[in-house]
Amino acid sequence: MAWKAKAHYLKRLLDRALNNIGCCDLCAADVHSSYLLAQPLQQSLICQFCVDDLPYFKQELLCANLLNWPAVYKALPNIHFDKLFALAPYSYPFDTWLAQFKYSGRFELANLFSALLSAQWQSSLMAQSHFDLVLSVPLHSKKWQLRGYNQAHLIAQNFAKQLSLPYDADLLIRIKNNDSQMGKTGAQRRKNLRNNFALKQDISSKVKHVLLIDDVVTTGTTASEISKLLKQAGVQTVTLVTVCLSLPNK
Ligand SMILES: [Zn+2]
Repeated sequence: MAWKAKAHYLKRLLDRALNNIGCCDLCAADVHSSYLLAQPLQQSLICQFCVDDLPYFKQELLCANLLNWPAVYKALPNIHFDKLFALAPYSYPFDTWLAQFKYSGRFELANLFSALLSAQWQSSLMAQSHFDLVLSVPLHSKKWQLRGYNQAHLIAQNFAKQLSLPYDADLLIRIKNNDSQMGKTGAQRRKNLRNNFALKQDISSKVKHVLLIDDVVTTGTTASEISKLLKQAGVQTVTLVTVCLSLPNK
């Protein structure tokens, strides 16, 4: 019947319109292709104006390593990773996005975080360094089952893909399902995390330089424990990559 064909046609038009036009998560403007530091961003969540306006760390002043900033180095004592690459301080809108990502299942934010991270990375000194493998901070299997996903894994798999680096989601395992680290001091966190991680299999002798991905770094204790384990297994350098740095005494 003619009216049925017409309704079908209108529905197809509406579907196409809904799929082709995105709406900026921050200002509600239409989202078209956007760029950060001349790198095309494969994301459809925020518009070019908001991409440019986000509160990034200035990688060019820090040689893309936040440990070059004395205040950060002093705030992260006893760490075993060698470099820290963070996109932004833990402030709006990243704090809101990370909470939505972690607790409200907004999986699409993994694409935004990895797109911003890889654009910053490719425009920085880090792009000139060689890395053998990307890993992510694991959740305990019980917590993974309860939450349904590991946010660090979602960012890492996209980030590795965009940099064409190998990613191993299974090598690192968390063997203790201990309490949340929130509210604990660095010393308490270190005690809580001792012998918390393991390698599922021997790490290849070819893997010397590793990128470790986490969503937020606070005391650096978790990443440091993993870095210690990796170095005991023969890895030479660990570079920690994170969306936000949230120093405990900022
Ligand atoms: Zn916008």
